[in-house]
Amino acid sequence: MAVKNKMEVSFVNLRRQYESIKDELDAELQNAINSGSFTLGSNTIEVERGMARFHDASYAVAVNSGTNALHLTLLSLGITSGDEVITVPNSFVATAEAISYTGATPVFIDVDARTYNMDPSLIEDAITSRTKAIVPVHLFGQPADMDLINEVALKYDLKVVEDSCQAHLAKYKGRSVGSLGDAAAFSFYPSKNLGTFGSGGMVLTNDSSIYEKVRRLRNHGCVVKDCHEMIGFNAYMGGLEAAVLKVKLRYIDDWTEQRRKNAELYNSLLGDVVHVPFKKDNVDHVYHLYVIETERRDELRTYLSQNGVVTGIHYPVPIHMQVAYKKVEGLSLPVVEQKTQRILSLPMSSEISSDEIKYVTEQVRAFFRQ
Ligand SMILES: *Cc1c(COP(=O)(O)O)cnc(C)c1O
Repeated sequence: MAVKNKMEVSFVNLRRQYESIKDELDAELQNAINSGSFTLGSNTIEVERGMARFHDASYAVAVNSGTNALHLTLLSLGITSGDEVITVPNSFVATAEAISYTGATPVFIDVDARTYNMDPSLIEDAITSRTKAIVPVHLFGQPADMDLINEVALKYDLKVVEDSCQAHLAKYKGRSVGSLGDAAAFSFYPSKNLGTFGSGGMVLTNDSSIYEKVRRLRNHGCVVKDCHEMIGFNAYMGGLEAAVLKVKLRYIDDWTEQRRKNAELYNSLLGDVVHVPFKKDNVDHVYHLYVIETERRDELRTYLSQNGVVTGIHYPVPIHMQVAYKKVEGLSLPVVEQKTQRILSLPMSSEISSDEIKYVTEQVRAFFRQ
């Protein structure tokens, strides 16, 4: 059925966010360029302090990606060849890659059918004498069940690293993500809830020894120029990326609130026709993604695309079924494998307008009416 007044609704709208803070951003970028602040410097320190403050963490280290935030954190915990790290397969592949970089093996376990987050009741069965750590992902912006995860970790003396790349400012039982485990990794990939121009990441921790190690690992083993205390990496956050984040940190609270309002509007307009995201009572969800579920996912996706609405699937192939990880033979994770066929991410950002949300929901409703 042809639709009257067809709109084009993109999945995210980075341009619109830029326009809304263009003057401040342009000024900070120009300052950084004029002063030659292209590496670690006062902007990076300001961004570290801002992120630590927002998440009630004692220490922050700015790095050049979420992937490296995870990798350096795992290294700082001593994760190495022969170790095993328990994680989930329904994440961006970087969660598993960071584990693999250390030489350790990612061990994938299934997820809760309502939240899509790590099912803590499955951790114990996955533990072996080689298990060293657990990496839960706060998927789509909803914190994983950290109390139960920490309980098992304590019992077996395992480290816990929060993959918070999709969950800036999210809370679990009133406490901020980023300070719920031993350390946490954040991403500033452009389309994340807090995104830079290019690539960036951050490690937050309350543990001074993790902080000291990651600070050295990100910059060739140095905190003092020419003093290489360990073999490190070129993984520091660039100055221009930091300048962008410094400005955006002024808005992240409002933008997060707007995402919640957008999710509520979606819920109110879709709750009677399709399975809308389940949110636990004890969390502050930050809706990095707004994910609905239907058995007719592929048909719905095509219909929406024909009517101007761009959608996504997060993720279409679970990591344990990816070619790169095909060694995980014989592993069957029924919840993840079923959800992969049913989930659909609708356009979501702090910038999407209520007219756009209404248009998207009208198309979803029209699809289910036909
Ligand atoms: C984006 C993301 C990463 C990787 O972050 P980059 O900044 O792209 O390296 C890791 N884990 C999750 C869950 C992510 O969403």
